[in-house]
Amino acid sequence: MGIKGKESTKKGYRKRQRSTSIYFLLWAAFSAFALIIVLMFGFSQRVVMKQTYKTEAVRDLIEKGREIQTILGKEPQDGENKDELVRVLSSYYDVEVYVLNERGEVLLPRPPEMQESGEFSRVFDFSEKIVALKHKLSQTDAPFVIYEGTEEYIYGSKIALYEDSQAYLYVTKSLQLMNAATREMSTRVWLIAVFTFLLSFAVSSAVSGWLTRPISEMTKKARRLARGDFNVDFHGNDYGQEMVELADTLNFARDELSKTDKMQKQLIANVSHDFKTPLTMIKAYASMIIEISGDNKQKREKHAQVIVEEADRLASLVGDVLDLSKIRAGIDALKITTVDMSSYLAEILTRFDYLRETQGYIFEVDIDEDLYTQADELKIGQALYNLIGNAVNYTGEDKKVCVRMKKQGNGYFRFSVTDTGAGIRKEELAGIWERYYRSSNVHKRPVKGTGLGLSIVKTVLEKHGFSFGVQSEEGKGSTFHVDFPLQTLDKQ
Ligand code: ADP
Repeated sequence: MGIKGKESTKKGYRKRQRSTSIYFLLWAAFSAFALIIVLMFGFSQRVVMKQTYKTEAVRDLIEKGREIQTILGKEPQDGENKDELVRVLSSYYDVEVYVLNERGEVLLPRPPEMQESGEFSRVFDFSEKIVALKHKLSQTDAPFVIYEGTEEYIYGSKIALYEDSQAYLYVTKSLQLMNAATREMSTRVWLIAVFTFLLSFAVSSAVSGWLTRPISEMTKKARRLARGDFNVDFHGNDYGQEMVELADTLNFARDELSKTDKMQKQLIANVSHDFKTPLTMIKAYASMIIEISGDNKQKREKHAQVIVEEADRLASLVGDVLDLSKIRAGIDALKITTVDMSSYLAEILTRFDYLRETQGYIFEVDIDEDLYTQADELKIGQALYNLIGNAVNYTGEDKKVCVRMKKQGNGYFRFSVTDTGAGIRKEELAGIWERYYRSSNVHKRPVKGTGLGLSIVKTVLEKHGFSFGVQSEEGKGSTFHVDFPLQTLDKQ
C-alpha cells in the first residue's frame, strides 16, 4: 500500500515539472495578440484603403471626364479659344486634358506658337497607353474606357470636336499623391509594429510578474504546509477575486489538515493510553496470581477474570481502530446485497436482551415490515449497533431507549433511536462524528465504547451514500437517524 502511494505521487510531480511557465505563456499570448492587431492594421491600410481610394479615384475621374467631354463637345462660341478652354478645365478639375487625332498628334492644347502656325505636336511619353486605350475604344460601344496604370488613371473617349476627322479625349489623373501616401503609411505601420511589440513585451512582463507573484508565494507556503507547518497564512489581497478565493481555499485546507493532524495525534495518544491501562492491569493481576493467589482458587479465579475482561477490552479497541482505518482507506470494499432491514434490526436488538433482562433497560420498538435496502449487511449492522449502544450508554435514569424503523412514503424508510439522556450541547453536535477519542467513563457504560463508534457510523454511512443526522435537546435526550432508500421487491 505504501509503495503504491509513493509511486503515484512521484508520477504526479513528474507530469507537473514539464509544463510551461505562466510568465512565458502570457508573454506569448500578448505578442500574438499584438502581431494580429498590427497585421490587421497593416492589411486595412494597404489593401482596404488602397482599394477604396482606387474605386473613388476612378469614379471621380469618370465624372470629371464626362463633364469635360460635354463642355469640349459643345459648339464653339464666338471668339472662344479651345486651347485656352482645355487649360482652364485642366486646372479647374486638377487633371491633364488632351485631345488627339487618329495619328496621335495633339490637337489640344497646343503651345501658342503652334496655334498660329497650325502645326500639331506629337506626344511620345504616353503614346503606348494611348494606343491601348484606342484599341479598347475601337472594340467597345461603351462611351468611354478607363486605363488603370500604376502611376496614373486615364479616361478615354471619342469626341466629335472636328466634324471631318476622328478625335480622342484623354483625361489623366496622376496617382503620385496616393502612392506617396501609401508608402508613408507602410513605413508608419512598421514603426507601429515595432513599438507595439516592445510595448506588449513590457506590459506582458509587468502583468505576468504581477499575476505570478502571489502564485509563487502561495506555492512556497503550500510546500511549508506540506512539510507540516500549520502556521502559514495564505492571502491573495490586492490580486483580484480569484486569488482571494484560492487563498481562502488554501487556508481552509490548512485548517482542516491541522484539525486532522491534531485529532490523529490525540487519537494516538489516547489509544496508547487506553492500550496501556488494560496492559498494566493484565500484568499486575498476572503477577498477583504468580506471587499471591496462585494457591487460592477463589482469588486466582477472580484475578484471572479481570485479566480476561481487560484482554477483551483491548481486543475490541484494536478491532475498532482496525475497522475504521480499513473502511477509510477503502481496503474493505462494500459487499452490497439486498438486506431485509426489518428482520435484521430485530436481530440486532436481541443482542441487547441481556441489558433488558439483567439491568432493567426498557426498549420501545416500532418496526414496519418488509423494509428492504441495498447495503453491506455487516457494516450497516455495526453502524446501527453503535447508535443503539450509544443510546443505551447515554440514556437517562428511566433507562428508556426508543428504536423505530418506519416507511417515509418518498422512496425512503427511516431508522431512528431516541434516548432520554442529557443530550448533546449545540457546540459539540458537529464534532461528535469526528474520529475523536474519549476514554473517560468507558468503564461505567453498559455497552463497551471505544470512543470510535460514531466515526465508524459516519464512515460506513458516507460510503453507502445514506443520509443521516442527529437532533438533540439538552436535558431531554437525543435522536440519531439514518435514511435508507427503499428497495421494492417483485413478489411472485
Ligand atoms: P463513545 O465510545 O465515547 O460513545 P462515540 O464515537 O460513539 O464514542 O461517541 C462520541 C461522543 O458523542 C460520545 O463520547 C458522546 O459524548 C457523544 N454521544 C454519542 N451518542 C450520544 C447520545 N446518544 N447521547 C449523548 N451523547 C452522545
